Amino acid sequence: MKYKRILLKLSGEALMGDRQYGIDPERLKEYAEEIKSVIGLGVEVAIVIGGGNIFRGVAGAANGMDRVQGDYMGMLATVINSMALQSALEEAGVYTRLQTAIRMEQIAEPFIKRRATRHLEKGRVVIFGAGTGNPYFTTDTAATLRAIEIDADVILKGTRVDGIYTADPEKDPTATKFDTLSFDEVYQKGLNVMDMTAFTLSQENNLPIIVFDMNTRGNLEKLIKGENIGTLVN
Ligand code: UDP
Repeated sequence: MKYKRILLKLSGEALMGDRQYGIDPERLKEYAEEIKSVIGLGVEVAIVIGGGNIFRGVAGAANGMDRVQGDYMGMLATVINSMALQSALEEAGVYTRLQTAIRMEQIAEPFIKRRATRHLEKGRVVIFGAGTGNPYFTTDTAATLRAIEIDADVILKGTRVDGIYTADPEKDPTATKFDTLSFDEVYQKGLNVMDMTAFTLSQENNLPIIVFDMNTRGNLEKLIKGENIGTLVN
């Protein structure tokens, strides 16, 4: 295996499948199966999931809501998604733990790094909910932060596109894909990989990022085995 411990970042929107809002149970099931397959290979898996399918703080602020209030709602949305994924994983026979950055002890453990790594060593999937616990951040930043804290080998950003392109491939048919990029190249070319806070944190801590298509079956396993799918930034 090329990677022993991974942090998988999924966006909330990915969970919608073809819906406009909320969670598609079929998509959830597919993701659980993908994750199960790499657990079977002995890989340690931590997950951060976004909340954009339910609520985004910026969207709330655009409608006149206090930004901080909206951001906390966004963080709670990530907990709903995390719980849904946790259920789907357990349904598939995978042991899991949910740790949140905002305390809610009836449903999750608080985030404790040593406990998280112990769970991983025991083969449990650890899902980190409620982002960083702070407004004005994103789940990309939370994913990067947690990846560094638990000493993950790589952050795998699962999207519906199969990597980083010269332009948005859903809008520009002439866009071409990069196989690898350095952090500096991403800056120079002005490419949008993650928000700047998350991106800088990765660079400063030498945490490689792989952007890949999570919606194609078997891709996660291919990546773990070192196949060159997606775009690697390091
Ligand atoms: N959020 C936050 N702090 C964090 C992580 C998330 O305030 O550390 C809020 C923010 O309002 C954001 C929402 O949670 O809009 C959902 O997260 P994000 O937009 O990153 O989810 P994704 O786009 O990946 O679904």
